[in-house]
Amino acid sequence: MKIKKDKNYEILETEVLTFKSLIEKNIIEHLLNVGVLDEDEACFGITVKQAAFDYDANIDELFFKSLGHSNYTTKAIEAFKNLVVLGENDCPECGGVVEDLYSCGKVYRHDYDSEPYVDGQVEYKRCTNCKLEF
Ligand SMILES: [Zn+2]
Repeated sequence: MKIKKDKNYEILETEVLTFKSLIEKNIIEHLLNVGVLDEDEACFGITVKQAAFDYDANIDELFFKSLGHSNYTTKAIEAFKNLVVLGENDCPECGGVVEDLYSCGKVYRHDYDSEPYVDGQVEYKRCTNCKLEF
């Protein structure tokens, strides 16, 4: 699991006086440890607030135990709540597994004996979790 590097994450990086490299690691580890998050597609793309709500966990406590009391500020807790959790894979929205797809092109042949070739085929990708196409 990882955290989307959006503006909320940037705020947290500014507010929290912990090594930047540890912020994401500490949050993910703690949320997985207490069971607020699972390594499961159901958790890909949700916010910390949503994860805590689903699990009936106290957000302030999640914050204290991930990042320490001394880092608790109004700005930091707001940003923390709105962090988006992603899976480890390639989907930009949720971190889900992405599959390569092709639109159907039209198959042409010069004549009966020549190799067929496909025209108008477009490659695109689709997330198997949130169905985003890109
Ligand atoms: Zn996705």
